[in-house]
Amino acid sequence: MVNATNSGGEKRTADSRVDVAIVGGGMAGASLALMLAHYCPDLQVALLEQKPLPASGIQPVLPSFDTRATALAAGSLQLFEQLGLWPELRTYCAPINEIHVSDRGRGVGARLSAAREARAQFQGMFGAVVENAALGPVLYRALADTSVHAMAPADVQRVAFGEEGAELYWRDDAGAEQRLRASLLVAADGVDSPLCRQLGIETERVDYHQRALVTTVGLQRDHGGVAYERFTDSGPMALLPLPDREGAHRAALVWTCEEEDADALCALDSDAFVDRVQRTFGWRAGRLVRSGAVASYRLSLSLAKEQWRRNLVLVGNCAHFLHPVAGQGFNLTLRDSEALARALSGDGGRLLAQNSSAALDLLENYGRERQQDQQLTIGFSDRVPALFASGNPLVRSSRQLGLLGLNVAPPLRTSFLSQAAGFGL
Ligand SMILES: Cc1cc2nc3c(=O)[nH]c(=O)nc-3n(C[C@H](O)[C@H](O)[C@H](O)COP(=O)(O)OP(=O)(O)OC[C@H]3O[C@@H](n4cnc5c(N)ncnc54)[C@H](O)[C@@H]3O)c2cc1C
Repeated sequence: MVNATNSGGEKRTADSRVDVAIVGGGMAGASLALMLAHYCPDLQVALLEQKPLPASGIQPVLPSFDTRATALAAGSLQLFEQLGLWPELRTYCAPINEIHVSDRGRGVGARLSAAREARAQFQGMFGAVVENAALGPVLYRALADTSVHAMAPADVQRVAFGEEGAELYWRDDAGAEQRLRASLLVAADGVDSPLCRQLGIETERVDYHQRALVTTVGLQRDHGGVAYERFTDSGPMALLPLPDREGAHRAALVWTCEEEDADALCALDSDAFVDRVQRTFGWRAGRLVRSGAVASYRLSLSLAKEQWRRNLVLVGNCAHFLHPVAGQGFNLTLRDSEALARALSGDGGRLLAQNSSAALDLLENYGRERQQDQQLTIGFSDRVPALFASGNPLVRSSRQLGLLGLNVAPPLRTSFLSQAAGFGL
């Protein structure tokens, strides 16, 4: 077992005990570990990941930290600022100063400017975009300065629950069985979570029969901090500002297309792909000049039917995997993680260790507290693609009215922004 870059805590041996064990070191697990280190410095926290960590520089990278970019809402930036990460993170971020939402070919759109909206902003911006490949090392560098014990590779094969909490088992490089006991097990092992399957936790799943095609495109002119959400006959396209690299202007493209069109689009060479994007997206961001490799993701709504049990909590994709069109999944996870870390601060650690009914109450209260935000965010992420995919004239008219409303009706704009900017509700 490799002891990850970690400055705190002694190396754990074949059988040890912690307060909280997080299984899965992706965006969700690593962020929760940071929140726990911040809000609950007295808790002993272990983070177990089956693949090499970003800080190790070893390929392949964790699924979270691949070629995607993430739109971090203003509320998430505030959370990262509280954790002390913002000074470093900002150097990898492009601010979102304006959001343009439009319906291609129908001349209707809404333009929202952070400079004009007093609400829903952070340092004068709606949010910021960071490439996941940059976010991973930032999170892990920060973790190395905490007492969180990051273990990798640690492919947790089996978990069991007893009087004293959870027991986790995996094998080290030499094939020897390792055991870690924890008062609380956090499953952060992603969508289709093997841990949930093992524990009999069912998921409710809706297949959108769509794929998200993701790539980086070059821009001939500066994006000016504008994030575009453009609804086209070939599916919604988001074009998000990225920081310049070696003097080149860049944007992250997320194109949601029907399942049956995806393979043909992915097979296009770089020039043909960018030409197709240009014709579909239009010229609002100027000329698109080239694209990187195109990655494709199957889209579904996947919700765990239980998010907590005695000694167990689910976070991230494992708890809720959303359509990415509204850029909400990770932002929601950060709000969940902060609430969980706050719930465990103070007396939380002692209650967990006692494994009493009060510890279960604590998890239930956390679940209740998160219910409303989760339902609204999941509903928002589920409705937007359906609304904009529809060619039905009635649906089309109502979405055009909605876009006009964003321009002229302050209450509608405020509610859209407070959802999109991730301040919770
Ligand atoms: C195309 C796309 C664009 C997106 N854009 C945005 C956006 O702009 N804004 C936003 O807020 N969200 C966005 N999201 C959502 C965001 O990507 C997810 O919220 C995020 O990836 C959550 O990651 P996770 O850590 O829960 O899961 P994962 O990334 O799947 O991580 C799970 C980890 O668990 C590890 N693991 C699995 N099993 C074990 C085991 N047995 N033992 C140890 N480790 C294990 C895996 O190796 C992996 O590292 C987007 C999603 C997609 C698909």
